Amino acid sequence: MHTAPDTLALIGNTPLVRLKGPSEATGCDIFGKCEFANPGASVKDRAALFIVEDAEARGLLRPGGTIVEGTAGNTGIGLALVANAKGYRTIIVMPDTQSKEKMDTLRALGAELVTVPAAPYSSAAHFVHTSRRIAEETPGAVWANQFDNIANRRAHILTTAEEIWSQMDGRIDGFTCAVGTGGTLAGVGLGLKAKDENVVVALSDPHGAALYDYYANGELRAEGSSVAEGIGQGRITANLEGAPVDTQFRIPDQEGLDWIDRLLTEEGLCLGLSSGINVAGAVRLARELGPGRRIATILCDTGFRYLSTLYDPAWLASKGLRRIDSGAAKG
Ligand code: PMP
Repeated sequence: MHTAPDTLALIGNTPLVRLKGPSEATGCDIFGKCEFANPGASVKDRAALFIVEDAEARGLLRPGGTIVEGTAGNTGIGLALVANAKGYRTIIVMPDTQSKEKMDTLRALGAELVTVPAAPYSSAAHFVHTSRRIAEETPGAVWANQFDNIANRRAHILTTAEEIWSQMDGRIDGFTCAVGTGGTLAGVGLGLKAKDENVVVALSDPHGAALYDYYANGELRAEGSSVAEGIGQGRITANLEGAPVDTQFRIPDQEGLDWIDRLLTEEGLCLGLSSGINVAGAVRLARELGPGRRIATILCDTGFRYLSTLYDPAWLASKGLRRIDSGAAKG
């Protein structure tokens, strides 16, 4: 045991846990990287720290400066805590469709929160473009630009991939996760392939995203929709460019929900839906690779962030979804 010199040193070096249910269901060893154990309770703390330190190194962010970002919430939470630890102000722009818990957390951290109605990326009102405009209009402000700022994926090449590789003693057959910005998939994928080019890297795409079709047949095409927050991309971001994707899955929300429910009730892990989609993808990858393989995925954030949505049976029912625990599927 040792002490950390400061809060920022708590980012990363998260545990890797063997997921019993998914492993037993496939005859593989499926491991989850516990990104909910970061101080901001999500995988995005890593990108936030790298983006801020990159802006400092480039001289774009000076003492007393402001960080502006458009986010589904988790990057904003990471940026706000990094900003507090370093003495910056944060302005966070978020679509109003995201969970109340994430908005409340941002306000509690002292971020200035701007919510905007959901709009397509092609619209000037989209949260990403709104955040860019606010950054341009605010003196001393820097735009974090997580989608196209590759300091994001560098965080995963240099930390997440290295950690997974050493935690698995260099014995890993496959890795999969979903994409928001693509920082995690591309960064971990590139980092692991640099260690061993035989590691199979798989995209686990939710419905409503366009990347499954892009990697399957070169066409960006979305189908259906998803209630998962923080994932579901419609374009090739700078972070995704050159991502080494070998295979891809399109995962329905219910398949991801069934896994987060099992992980909660059988293993005591309370996770968000992107983690469920990742675990569902890991199970599909395990079935594709065959028994005895070792597969890693990302447990992106805590389920405590979704008590008013995913963990509220009435909310789920309103979306046409169900928890297996409250139905007949378990047994
Ligand atoms: N899961 C959640 C809950 C997220 O907030 C995000 C980030 N938007 C992701 C997954 C995807 O991570 P990335 O941006 O690295 O693709």
